[in-house]
Amino acid sequence: MENCDITIVGGGSAGLAALKHLSSLGKQAILLEAGKDVGSKNVSGGILYSKKSNNGKMYNVEDIYGESFLTESPYERLITKYILNATSKDKVFSIDLTEAHNYQTNFGFSVLLNKLNSWFAKEAQSVAEKLGGGIITGVHVRSLRWDEKRSKIIVETDELEEFETKVMIAADGVNSEIAEMTNAREKFSPSELYQGVKVVVKLPEKLIEERFNITNSNEGVAYLFAGDVSLNLIGGGFLYTNRDSLSIGGVYHYDSLLENPIEPAEIVNAMLRNPLISELIKDDVPLKEIDKTLPKEEQVRKSFAVTKLLNNWNELRQLYYSHKLKMKSIEDRKYNSEEEIKSKLDNLTQKLTDEYHTKFMTNYIELEYTTKLVPDGKRGRMKKPYHKNILFIGDAAGRGIFFGPRIEGLNVGIDDAARASIAIARSLDKNNFGTDYLGEFYTQSIEQSPYSVDMKEIDKQYLSVILNSTRKKISSDALGLKHKLLFNLISNDGLRNFFITLINKYGYTRLLSFIESEDVYFKIPIKIADKLGTVKSSTYIPQIPTVQDRVAKLCYHEDTISHIKILNSGQNFLKKMVTLCPTKCYSLEGNDVILQHEGCIECGTCSKETEWRHPRGEKGVVFKYG
Ligand SMILES: Cc1cc2nc3c(=O)[nH]c(=O)nc-3n(C[C@H](O)[C@H](O)[C@H](O)COP(=O)(O)OP(=O)(O)OC[C@H]3O[C@@H](n4cnc5c(N)ncnc54)[C@H](O)[C@@H]3O)c2cc1C
Ligand code: SF4
Repeated sequence: MENCDITIVGGGSAGLAALKHLSSLGKQAILLEAGKDVGSKNVSGGILYSKKSNNGKMYNVEDIYGESFLTESPYERLITKYILNATSKDKVFSIDLTEAHNYQTNFGFSVLLNKLNSWFAKEAQSVAEKLGGGIITGVHVRSLRWDEKRSKIIVETDELEEFETKVMIAADGVNSEIAEMTNAREKFSPSELYQGVKVVVKLPEKLIEERFNITNSNEGVAYLFAGDVSLNLIGGGFLYTNRDSLSIGGVYHYDSLLENPIEPAEIVNAMLRNPLISELIKDDVPLKEIDKTLPKEEQVRKSFAVTKLLNNWNELRQLYYSHKLKMKSIEDRKYNSEEEIKSKLDNLTQKLTDEYHTKFMTNYIELEYTTKLVPDGKRGRMKKPYHKNILFIGDAAGRGIFFGPRIEGLNVGIDDAARASIAIARSLDKNNFGTDYLGEFYTQSIEQSPYSVDMKEIDKQYLSVILNSTRKKISSDALGLKHKLLFNLISNDGLRNFFITLINKYGYTRLLSFIESEDVYFKIPIKIADKLGTVKSSTYIPQIPTVQDRVAKLCYHEDTISHIKILNSGQNFLKKMVTLCPTKCYSLEGNDVILQHEGCIECGTCSKETEWRHPRGEKGVVFKYG
């Protein structure tokens, strides 16, 4: 039987950081990823943060990948402005929370995970392969057992011969099968989860900069949303500027969705329909139309010709609106000047309109629709993130910080990965994989992480930064009596600090339902927007694709075998999946719920009450953006 020292399961940002760090520590490790390529299964919002804290060391992305992360990695934009928008119908009231975004932050970049994780993989692979390790994609770990005498884990996959490993890192995400097959933790309960939903919208670089008042082309803006745009769910929306696209979506408490099931697509649609957002996403979109009265052959000829011209038009437009591409094309002498590119683009537009009757209409272009569960570290993180000689990291361990405007999972998973790597390197050096030496050491290290403190306690200073930014713009008179009292109470530094000390002592998690309440997430924001907001109008109403259109745009490597099995088709929970499954895989037939797994995007929303597995290696959905 083949054997290796360390096996990492899962090639998301956490697993890849573990491979890179272990390799940097001189340890041979292999990483198994179910997706055909790294990055094809990962989804984020997302802003990747690098943080600093007075509470202790944090392992940041640049500690793992070196300074080349800053100079070479394909991040999107450095976020320098962070605005919270309270919404009520067509009214919006904006509060600048840049100070909160900057709090204990080295930097925060908007990222698209397919691109970024592929870069992480390349960096990790180049070090790992020198030690005989590396990444194997298209391999799904199916089950584990132990050779108890030698304490080795025997790994079974759907694709490879079984093999032995001395130690394992489970980085297999929120729906961790390793956690389930080892009983290391229960499946997360709805109160320990969020459902995140997102669309990526195409928008030329220059238009993004004009619309968001961005003066430095490397920089970008993050918008957060609270109020009626959240459809009375506990959670909030986001809009992040990427280089030439926008990530728009939201993260909502899963239990609030179960109570009041709303289609994930409808949540994101409500964002897109908000006039502030509609105005930001709109663009000139060509509409290919072929005269159906022409002879068939002529129709085909015209269709080919228009498609070719439209491809040229899209390419040229992207180049014209991109600083980098435009400069490069002029440097490479493909074009002599910006004016020449503009005039070529105008000519193409003219030709498409005059000769081929192409119409240019105002609309937006959606590139990808995704959904994924996200664990809430405050409630669901594993208190002891190990089982025998397996260490859990990132979403698999239920670790993430979601407090007010903070959405942080990527950086937390990277910190976990470094700590797990150090614990394993130490165990390998002493050939000691006992739980006291490995699992407990890792648990202590994780507990010392400032991120763990943030999952257990309210950070008084952070809250005061948020409140100061808010108070600068809002007087409590703008609120009704009840909310005015609440606002005055938390605005008083002394009183607030006293109460927070009590809350932290009593147990922050026990009071979460009061803190993460309807008042905070939508009632107060709605009131503020009603009283203080300005009316935003848009003459443009986005033509939003249906779920079927969105699914049709996704790429799948279909598996004839379903990776999900229904256990009880009459169950109330499954009936809710008819609404809550983002791609409508569930439907009702009489009183029974049936599943068609083909459109599944592996979000995990239905996993709680089903027999849920990831698809076999290389199978299932392939995200192009993430
Ligand atoms: C809408 C949304 C917005 C978010 N916004 C932010 C944000 O702004 N900032 C932030 O920091 N975080 C954000 N997060 C959270 C963040 O994206 C996650 O915490 C992070 O991506 C998790 O990384 P991971 O490596 O732990 O898991 P994953 O990325 O889920 O990776 C797990 C990997 O394991 C593989 N795998 C699973 N099972 C097996 C198996 N049995 N065998 C082999 N391979 C397997 C999967 O294919 C997958 O590639 C957001 C999440 C969502 C959904
Ligand atoms: S079938 Fe389940 S895992 Fe797949 S997309 Fe629907 S809810 Fe998500």
